[in-house]
Amino acid sequence: MKIENNKVVSLTYKLSNHKTGETIEETTTENPMVFLYGVGSMIPEFEASIDGKKVGDTFEVVIVSENAYGDFDENQIAMIPLDVFNDESGVFDEKYFPIGSLIPMSDNEGNQLRGRVLEITPELMKMDFNHPLAGTDLHFIGEILELRDALEEEISHGHVHGEHGHQH
Ligand SMILES: [Zn+2]
Repeated sequence: MKIENNKVVSLTYKLSNHKTGETIEETTTENPMVFLYGVGSMIPEFEASIDGKKVGDTFEVVIVSENAYGDFDENQIAMIPLDVFNDESGVFDEKYFPIGSLIPMSDNEGNQLRGRVLEITPELMKMDFNHPLAGTDLHFIGEILELRDALEEEISHGHVHGEHGHQH
């Protein structure tokens, strides 16, 4: 069996920042990444790099930021009035908004997004809505652990069920 559409892939990988070599994320054999191949849930170049691989094969790919999580966009930095963050009693409490933390927000259309707190002034909070990996060139190395045929139900849902998958 090889990796192609409608296969469920289990793999481990180590993701590092290609420029600095810093490790960003690492999966283990106990807690691998499991996904349905070919439905667009992964970065396209990542999927392309494992196309046709078999269990035990290794892979390595570098994906530049514009093909991964996008370039860093200055327009995604916003100044937001502090009173937006007031608690129920109308008070802004800085201790809930440490610099660097990610705050769940929603935009005008109700989409969920997370903003990183950059700076707090007496009236404004400066937030960064870029993806945390925007502007980062990604370097993946990994190994294919398991392959199986996807179930009809998984194919129709577009995701994996069971252990490491959607529980529903
Ligand atoms: Zn499902």
